[in-house]
Amino acid sequence: MIVRKSASELATMAETGALIAEVHEMLRDALEPGMSTADLDRMAEEAIRARGATPSFKGYRGFPGSLCTSVNEQIVHGIPSDDVVLRAGDLIKIDAGSIVDGYHSDSAVTWIVGGPEAAPPAVRDLVARTRAGLWAGILEARAGNRVTDISAAVEALALPHGYGVVREYVGHGVGRALHEDPQVPNYGRAGRGPKLVPGLVIAIEPMFNLGTAETAVLDDDWTVVTGDGQVSAHWEHTVAITEEGPWVLTARSDEPARPLEDLASVPEATLLGVDAQGVR
Ligand code: MG
Ligand code: MG
Repeated sequence: MIVRKSASELATMAETGALIAEVHEMLRDALEPGMSTADLDRMAEEAIRARGATPSFKGYRGFPGSLCTSVNEQIVHGIPSDDVVLRAGDLIKIDAGSIVDGYHSDSAVTWIVGGPEAAPPAVRDLVARTRAGLWAGILEARAGNRVTDISAAVEALALPHGYGVVREYVGHGVGRALHEDPQVPNYGRAGRGPKLVPGLVIAIEPMFNLGTAETAVLDDDWTVVTGDGQVSAHWEHTVAITEEGPWVLTARSDEPARPLEDLASVPEATLLGVDAQGVR
């Protein structure tokens, strides 16, 4: 069942979205080689609770962290750990969510630890193109479009480069539940699936792999990894469909909350993932 949010519900979702955007910026600025993924998790939980909110993921189906922290070949759902110490050149995917007045936000980033130069060009390109895939999808999040208009736009950024587009894990509606209808795949032909209507809020979250699209789950029953051990990138925003176009509720300060018609309207630096701080 697709839930349409009222104006006041959207205002609350904008609040929880802005909160998690701020937390992501804080983590980005703090990230450096030598930190553990548990360090990031503690910082995030403290920051979320200090703002009067609750981490969406903590305890979700028994998940132990406030963040999902997935490193290199880990795609999503990595468990924060003191034993996972980040080194320069690692890809850290930080997925975070917060609950404000019962409403969730959901947003993920991929940073290169130690700055973009720390990773080989092929990895930097993967990160940037996955981020561009997210924005290409966001631009299709318009009333009157259908769900797979988003899917096809996302996938179009991956196909020319031969990336594996993850199929087992997809975007989704967001609201009082972290995962609502509809599912938003990152692949498929345009023009199918439910119609996008004002008030619908969805998480768009491309996961592109350098190699195979195949995935596997580790023995911890959470961590999803690539089938061939090559790296993966993941970017996610929570986006509201409005009469005026897409509204990116989790946009950070270097990103447009209301992108215009096409990718040219998205700042190139944001699109390429190389902002003032670098991809990181
Ligand atoms: Mg997420
Ligand atoms: Mg999500």
